[in-house]
Amino acid sequence: MQTLVVDHPLIAHKLTALRDEHTEAPTFRRLTDELVTLLAYEATREVRVQPVSVRTPVDDAPGVKLARPVPLIVPILRAGIGMLDGMARLLPTADVGFVGLARDEESLVATTYANRLPADLAGRDAFVLDPMLATGGTLETVIGMLADRGAAKVTAVCLLAAPEGVARLQAAFPGDEPLPVQVVTAALDERLNEHGYIVPGLGDAGDRLFGEI
Ligand code: URA
Repeated sequence: MQTLVVDHPLIAHKLTALRDEHTEAPTFRRLTDELVTLLAYEATREVRVQPVSVRTPVDDAPGVKLARPVPLIVPILRAGIGMLDGMARLLPTADVGFVGLARDEESLVATTYANRLPADLAGRDAFVLDPMLATGGTLETVIGMLADRGAAKVTAVCLLAAPEGVARLQAAFPGDEPLPVQVVTAALDERLNEHGYIVPGLGDAGDRLFGEI
């Protein structure tokens, strides 16, 4: 598994504002959207393209277009929804699947409550959106679901990651079997606390995006 911590002053600037406990939901949503688009630029660096030729007003020009089958974007409910527009902005022709997982606050074990994924993902690249790679349990489950459906490659786009979550995914998906996995994140934080929150983190991403439930 590859982990890419994107080092860019604009990402660091926006992430700092996102972490700030005084940042209100409307600004938090806008910053998340902008950050995801910046991360998406790196996350799609190896997206599959095919050669095409276009006619300019002057001459023929060689170029490329996204290869088919188009990628699948999978926001993990609920917080991943806050990342969908930022990702789809760079991949407007991608399909979108949904997975809902809720974690038990005591055991931190995640259970699946919604699954709207194509049955056959053979040859397709998937981009999973989850703002917080904390224990890694949720992402391990979702990547496993995508692998079972034959996805060619999974890239997880996360605003923040904890070393514990990265280590768990590394152990679950060490090489190219069952499929290559990449994590793209804006920062690798210190650790998880006893409640499974990333430290220093930004708190509960779902609550900060959409309000407490
Ligand atoms: N989920 C969150 O929203 N925040 C964390 O810090 C960890 C998991």
